[in-house]
Amino acid sequence: MAIILRNMYKRMAKAVKWNKTADILFPLRCPVCDKPVPYFDRQKGICPECMEGFLRIEKARCCLCGRRLAANDGELCEDCRTNGRRHYYTKGIALYEYNDMMRKAVYRFKYEGRREYAEFFGKALARQFGNAVKRAGVEGIIPVPLHPKRENERGYNQAGLLARIFGEETQIPVYEKYVVRIRNTPPMKALEGAKRQNNLKKAFKIGQNDVKLNITIIVDDIYTTGSTIDAMAKVLLEAGISQVYFMTLAIGKDF
Ligand SMILES: [Zn+2]
Ligand SMILES: [Zn+2]
Repeated sequence: MAIILRNMYKRMAKAVKWNKTADILFPLRCPVCDKPVPYFDRQKGICPECMEGFLRIEKARCCLCGRRLAANDGELCEDCRTNGRRHYYTKGIALYEYNDMMRKAVYRFKYEGRREYAEFFGKALARQFGNAVKRAGVEGIIPVPLHPKRENERGYNQAGLLARIFGEETQIPVYEKYVVRIRNTPPMKALEGAKRQNNLKKAFKIGQNDVKLNITIIVDDIYTTGSTIDAMAKVLLEAGISQVYFMTLAIGKDF
């Protein structure tokens, strides 16, 4: 018995040692600050400091876009009240405030090859919103597509990665090619209001119509003015889908 226990212990020790070596060689990086996550926090997927400082939107949210409401807002945020155009999407929700910390994290996630962040972010979305999305009767998850040229350059579509993890966690099917991007639009950051909407005209089209969906959810990394999600929701509604929700990692203003 003692020998068996000792052997088990040795095997465990060996495994732990190997993991520690692997941890030194390939440290898990915190999806927020990008520093290596300490060995004993690996399960959480985020470093303790960022866990503390994360700005999850938990208080009153705008009924439409899910933005945090200011003190004198009613049911809608200022952006949804004053932008003078209706949204095509039904309603949406976001996990984090798009603050400086998140802006840097999303930048690395999109432009600096940190595709592995998707694991933590996708799971965080599923933990927080998985049940609500199921209760809403969502039949398919549709990530905002990149233009194929841009996806080739980047090597991945960050919204697609988030959608995949969310789909695995919730068992809701993901349709990455349901909508495709047919115009390689300039980055939205550089454009203002009306120009953004113009820029997005005819940017998307249905890429797959062998599946009949009624209720869907669009997944993206950030929501700022909502024009990308609206443009895509419009295409989905025209294709006969009755409800289009959205879910993003963060929501806020452009910096
Ligand atoms: Zn961190
Ligand atoms: Zn709103």
